[in-house]
Amino acid sequence: MVWFYNSITMTDKCETLQRTLVLLKPDAIQRGLIGEIIQRFEKVGLKIVGLKMVWPTKETAMGHYTEDLAQRRGERVRELMVEMLSSGPIVAMVLEGVEAVELVRKMVGSTEPKSAAPGTIRGDYSHVSFKHADSKEVGIYNLIHASGEVEEAGPEIKVWFNDDELHDFDPKYCDYTIV
Ligand code: UDP
Ligand code: MG
Repeated sequence: MVWFYNSITMTDKCETLQRTLVLLKPDAIQRGLIGEIIQRFEKVGLKIVGLKMVWPTKETAMGHYTEDLAQRRGERVRELMVEMLSSGPIVAMVLEGVEAVELVRKMVGSTEPKSAAPGTIRGDYSHVSFKHADSKEVGIYNLIHASGEVEEAGPEIKVWFNDDELHDFDPKYCDYTIV
């Protein structure tokens, strides 16, 4: 079946097919993990529909880490994360697949590296605790951001991508991984 996608997250067209935002944060780039992390998403058969390297401005970082983060985690965490995200280049991508928002969060693992399960990206490549990061007054280096909810994905994608930077195409492997 051929779908013609207009909506940024596609939930209008097919409820189970979703797009989600992933950012490889500055620590992932500094550690040379871009390829390894992207490969994990390709291996499960997700489709990369947008991909770029950006050095975010503070304004863009604040558009991403919004007031919602300050409300959930405190104003200081938001400040630290805006600082961190604008400290160097990052890789932004949009992944498409079946219930992709929840799937990608599962692959990313818990926010706190110490608690993130082995096999997840955060669990395999990082280990520090909230307590340790707090004692150092730094944001947690956990390598990656992924949209937390379907409703978050659309607005988050718009922070980083214009419509013409997201591509509708059908790589052959998706006949088998997405159907
Ligand atoms: N963060 C932090 N200290 C905290 C909570 C969060 O440094 O006490 C950072 C961490 O890098 C996290 C980001 O803020 O990934 C966004 O927090 P959120 O609660 O949205 O977690 P996520 O959705 O990234 O798992
Ligand atoms: Mg979050």
